[in-house]
Amino acid sequence: MDIVHPGEQPVTKIDQPKSNRTPMDAPGFGRSRCPVCWSWWQNCKCGYAVNYNFGESIFGSCIRISEEVNKKTCQRASEDEDRKRATDIRTVDGSISIATRVQEGGHNIMNSMTLRYYPPEKSEFKKILREGYADQYLIVTVDKKGSISYWILVDLSVLRWIFTIHGDQLLEHESYCQYYDQAQPYWRFNLLKMKDLPGAEGLIITNLPQFYQMSFKF
Ligand SMILES: [Zn+2]
Repeated sequence: MDIVHPGEQPVTKIDQPKSNRTPMDAPGFGRSRCPVCWSWWQNCKCGYAVNYNFGESIFGSCIRISEEVNKKTCQRASEDEDRKRATDIRTVDGSISIATRVQEGGHNIMNSMTLRYYPPEKSEFKKILREGYADQYLIVTVDKKGSISYWILVDLSVLRWIFTIHGDQLLEHESYCQYYDQAQPYWRFNLLKMKDLPGAEGLIITNLPQFYQMSFKF
């Protein structure tokens, strides 16, 4: 799972253990140590334990949202799927794979989707848009307390289709896409705008209140 801070380039969260071990073996239970600073889990000051616990609770919500929208039972994807297909969650029947992202933030990132464009050949953008990786992209936005304030689910097959029809002009069109020219560049897509393009039907499913859907502008 990645975490994005508004106005900054996306950063990858500390890699969290993704094995299928039982909860009792997981960090935070019993007398386990933080793998980064090596203090006892409950005394960890390096941030890993906080991040881990935060990630786990949000991840549970991501699974519930995926199940609700797809009407299918979902589970954590394997490490292999995560690495090779950018997939964090999959339906138990194997039919749908879902990439997830957690972002903290306000209205400036509402209804948008940020994809890393670095390194160019192996970027997240390339993987997800061009090579048919995950089927869906779930973006949850959390407030300062860590509660989910809203979420957006993007159908990546539709997104790929939009790029097939409208081509790279989408990347040059500022109202559809913004490019952040930093050391590690990324694209930020305006999903609401793209929703209105021919062929974009079903692009996003969101629980965003209608008011914000109407008022949002880049
Ligand atoms: Zn630590």
